[in-house]
Amino acid sequence: MTTALPAPTTANPLHGAREQLAEACAILGYDQGMYQMLANARREVTVSIPLRRDNGTVELLTGHRVQHNFSRGPAKGGLRFSPAVDLDEVRALAMWMTWKCALLDVPYGGAKGGVQIDPRQYSTAELERVTRRYTSEISPIIGPERDIPAPDIGTDEQTMAWMMDTFSVAHGHTVTGIVTGKPISIGGSLGRPSATSRGVVHVALQALAHSGIPATRARAAVQGYGKVGRDAATFLDDAGVRVIAVSDQYGAVYASDGLDLKALRKHVDVTGQVPGFPGGEPLGGDDLLELDVDLLVPAAVESVIRADNAPRIRARVIVEGANGPTTPPADRILADNGVLVVPDILANAGGVIVSYFEWVQANQAYWWSADDVENRLADRMRTAWRRVLGHATANHLTLRTAATCLAVQCVAEAHKIRGLYP
Ligand code: NAD
Repeated sequence: MTTALPAPTTANPLHGAREQLAEACAILGYDQGMYQMLANARREVTVSIPLRRDNGTVELLTGHRVQHNFSRGPAKGGLRFSPAVDLDEVRALAMWMTWKCALLDVPYGGAKGGVQIDPRQYSTAELERVTRRYTSEISPIIGPERDIPAPDIGTDEQTMAWMMDTFSVAHGHTVTGIVTGKPISIGGSLGRPSATSRGVVHVALQALAHSGIPATRARAAVQGYGKVGRDAATFLDDAGVRVIAVSDQYGAVYASDGLDLKALRKHVDVTGQVPGFPGGEPLGGDDLLELDVDLLVPAAVESVIRADNAPRIRARVIVEGANGPTTPPADRILADNGVLVVPDILANAGGVIVSYFEWVQANQAYWWSADDVENRLADRMRTAWRRVLGHATANHLTLRTAATCLAVQCVAEAHKIRGLYP
């Protein structure tokens, strides 16, 4: 196995997101005004976050919160801590959240937040100060009826607990509905931590069946071993799919007979990274994408499948656990090569579905059982899969174009019926 040098990730996700929107608007017959309204965020806030380091020095960080759309309800979207965060990335992620919520009939618009920081370089106390200051800076525009953050890359339920506490202290009372993805002890939902991964696997199994590939004969590769990829690999394994390769930002491991995922989990818990796992051969992270597998689950970052590597992708089915992993030029190459791509706005919607359930439970102050959450999640994912597949088949569209058209139409209808103020 050769180890290719990582290709530069130069694609701008916002350009890709707008290209997808433009295609949907053309198919739906919408004019330039509607396109412009949907291509641009309703509100964007950029904040400075002065951080007192543990050694007493002060560092200035930058954060963003972009609220793409409110037509169908409050804005909703994750908070990312990553050195790669920039405003265009946050804008694209916010737009995709709008489509995701519309497609899954969750009564939200889309939002996203990001702080340009490498969380691995900071202590827990420093990350708490960053989170609290960021929350305080954006608090005028967030709230359970305005915009509800959740975890994303580099953030977790502890981050959400700090956000909730900061917002609650400022408001003089506990506001459980301000964030989702919280710990259970402060109003989180059962099933939320694994919801995105469960949703990914629900649609992956549907997509394999649709492609005539029995799950128990399928081989899969998962890129990214974080909150989404780690559990997705486990749930695939539980369903009988052989997971032969897994990667993180440091590299990949490969075992042709399938990885021992319990042992891998322990290895990562101890060492903090996938490479070095004794139960597999080392593999270049980018090589994982080009393995001869039935199912590829990119569950890391944007723009990893591009025009330069798409022709070499051998997976028969790609299920996008990450947001925006495939650029539009790569999408066209994959479609020409007969690869079935289940788009992010469908495939990874399990997270926002259970975030919605968490918000509903917080607003009612009444908690559902784990079974109740999981059955409702499975039902929504399968219903959305059937709807997107039906629309794609009837109109000779890719799953991405079909999903984007359904979502954009839903948001545009809300705009039209509400009218323009003034
Ligand atoms: P995370 O921070 O928990 O994990 C990210 C993982 O990706 C880590 O293992 C990291 O090492 C790895 N990674 C980063 N760059 C990589 C690269 N170039 N190659 C291989 N691996 C790489 O983040 P997460 O919450 O799992 O999010 C992953 C993706 O899923 C993101 O696109 C996110 O927006 C999307 N997503 C997350 C959720 C959620 O509920 N967490 C919901 C929907 C979509």
